[in-house]
Amino acid sequence: MIGGMAELPPRVRLVIFDLDGVIYRGSGPVPGAPELVAWLHATGTAVRFATNNSMVTRAGYVERLGAMGIPTTVEEIVTSTSATVEHLRQHAPEVRSVLAIGADGMREELTTAGLEVVMADAVEPPAGPGGPLARRFDAVVVGLDPLIDYARLAIAMSAVAGGARLIATNADTRYPTPAGFLPGAGSIVAALATATGVTPEVIGKPAPAMFRAITEASGIPAAECVVVGDNPDADVVGAHRAGCAAILVLTGVADAALAAGLRGERVPEAVAAGPAEVRVLLEPRLS
Ligand SMILES: [Mg+2]
Repeated sequence: MIGGMAELPPRVRLVIFDLDGVIYRGSGPVPGAPELVAWLHATGTAVRFATNNSMVTRAGYVERLGAMGIPTTVEEIVTSTSATVEHLRQHAPEVRSVLAIGADGMREELTTAGLEVVMADAVEPPAGPGGPLARRFDAVVVGLDPLIDYARLAIAMSAVAGGARLIATNADTRYPTPAGFLPGAGSIVAALATATGVTPEVIGKPAPAMFRAITEASGIPAAECVVVGDNPDADVVGAHRAGCAAILVLTGVADAALAAGLRGERVPEAVAAGPAEVRVLLEPRLS
């Protein structure tokens, strides 16, 4: 444990787990993670799993986690796309029509939520290049689109020029793969923000909107919520900006040396070597 940290809350009713580096690594679970989740479920504690990935549906994650021996429900999974939906429901219910840049899973998730969704590649280009679209959209929602091209960016730019608000599922500039990095959703968002001059509303961590959407939907105050993550820049900062405490686990991108050197909003309320230590930290705080 690191000295000088703020305390974990005395009472914890909601635990939000990051996925990659916390619950699983690659295609296998982090040792002890299935047991930790099963124990929390048995105690009746509210559990959520939050990922900045916009491309996979919540049902897809239920399947992926189930295959690792971690039973979950769709309601417990929060992707940056489903958090965007929840954020709009709570704070911008006037948004009904969405022009979307993203993967198939994002289209499915937005459509399931009852929004009118048109993918950027399905829109008729303006009569004159760069001109107005034939119709107006309430919002342009941008996630990671592995088939992004100039034509889709141009359509989205026209939609923003036509009055659509610009919403980013997340601002991650890089998307990690087992072999290296790919451009992330944030790189696509940056291109659109640069072209339009419009500052996007960002939902995914470290922006506070994702964790806020979770606590607000759960009805449990942020002061009784703990985020468990492996990434100080995304998980710990995101937790603090949303008013939640954070446990940094050393099973992913951070090791003990990195944890010891953290400053400011990156300093977690507690550090745990892995899932078993997370249980030790949470056990006296559950009600
Ligand atoms: Mg992670």
